[in-house]
Amino acid sequence: MTDHYDVVVVGGGPVGAALALALHAAGVGVVLLEARERAAQSTSLRPLALSYGSRLIFERLAVWRELATTATPIARIHISQRGRFGRSELTAREAGLPNLGYVLDYTALARALDAAVFTSRLEVIRGATVTSVAHGATSARVEFSTVDGVRDCIGSLVVVADGSALAADLEVRTIDYRQSAVTARVDTELPHRHTAYERFTPDGPIALLPFQQSYGLVWTTRSDEADELVNVTAPSFLNLLQDRFGERVGRFVAVGTRSAQRLTLRVAQRTTWGRAFIIGNAAQALHPVAGQGFNLGLRDAWELATEIQTRGPRDEHLFNAYRARRRIDRAGGIAFTDALIRIFSNDFLPLGVARGAGLTLLDCLPAAKNFVVRRMIFGTRG
Ligand SMILES: Cc1cc2nc3c(=O)[nH]c(=O)nc-3n(C[C@H](O)[C@H](O)[C@H](O)COP(=O)(O)OP(=O)(O)OC[C@H]3O[C@@H](n4cnc5c(N)ncnc54)[C@H](O)[C@@H]3O)c2cc1C
Repeated sequence: MTDHYDVVVVGGGPVGAALALALHAAGVGVVLLEARERAAQSTSLRPLALSYGSRLIFERLAVWRELATTATPIARIHISQRGRFGRSELTAREAGLPNLGYVLDYTALARALDAAVFTSRLEVIRGATVTSVAHGATSARVEFSTVDGVRDCIGSLVVVADGSALAADLEVRTIDYRQSAVTARVDTELPHRHTAYERFTPDGPIALLPFQQSYGLVWTTRSDEADELVNVTAPSFLNLLQDRFGERVGRFVAVGTRSAQRLTLRVAQRTTWGRAFIIGNAAQALHPVAGQGFNLGLRDAWELATEIQTRGPRDEHLFNAYRARRRIDRAGGIAFTDALIRIFSNDFLPLGVARGAGLTLLDCLPAAKNFVVRRMIFGTRG
């Protein structure tokens, strides 16, 4: 017999899990289909900068208390460019917030959400890989494969949060940045004092995010160099990092397990399709510069849950309302990260001077700074 739900969520990553929790708490009948058999496991740190706005969403989902035990606050963000003048500093005090954001490990976040899903008793089917979605006029049939064979279920609505829109037959715009991100835990001579650094270099930005007593490193560079950086010895890696980042945090003294991930901008041309919504990385996978991707995806989840809760899952205006609600925030997040990479990832001298002037100007203009900070933290509703 085929089960019927108000909403079928495809993908139990952080965005899909957050949406399912919000819907379940609101009394909406939801099932979560996740391809993985069990929670994500990883030995290498994959740091994730969570904005203060995302913390507020997690508080409403009642998972912040658990996340707070492993989250490291960011009180200050220092932005600079290698080999050129110009710097800017954003602080929580100037923004009138307790913190600008928090740094978490992706795996710890995924596990905390898995635990919250488990205790909430919302229905979840693990080891369920969705293979197709067939749309009718008022519902959609979702087919998925499990170890026991092929099964299906029906939802008035389907939400695709599978990270890559594989479950949706959608047109996707792709830009290969020819960059990869090397992530690892690194230790330095000087304590971080809750300061995050974003240092732009012609090969890509280097982010150092305060994480526990160490830093979480997201070193973006050309993909061929990234592969080398994962394989060189630890002392060589630390020397190369020192040379590229400079002395602002003292000497780099230790590095944990390293891994590299290729970076591509992927934008689904539509965020709704038949009876389905596309959210999170399935809708837009961004460059990690400025740590916007997950925060944007979480706002997709929260605002979709709010629309479904307010209008009900059978409301015919739901699709238009969601698209209108997310249009500006989504377009802004995509354009902001893409522009940062285009403007900062080159060594063109006049542009370097203009960038330096821009950073210095930003530092001197409190109103402009406040705009940038609120936009990064709360999206367009800032
Ligand atoms: C190096 C790096 C650093 C980053 N740093 C930041 C940062 O500091 N701040 C920030 O906001 N963002 C950051 N991001 C982006 C962030 O990691 C993503 O936006 C976020 O993980 C997206 O979550 P998601 O749930 O949409 O997708 P995913 O995390 O990809 O989850 C998708 C889930 O769907 C499941 N799935 C896939 N296919 C199927 C299927 N067919 N059927 C069922 N289930 C399926 C998968 O198993 C997975 O669990 C970074 C990204 C990278 C690469």
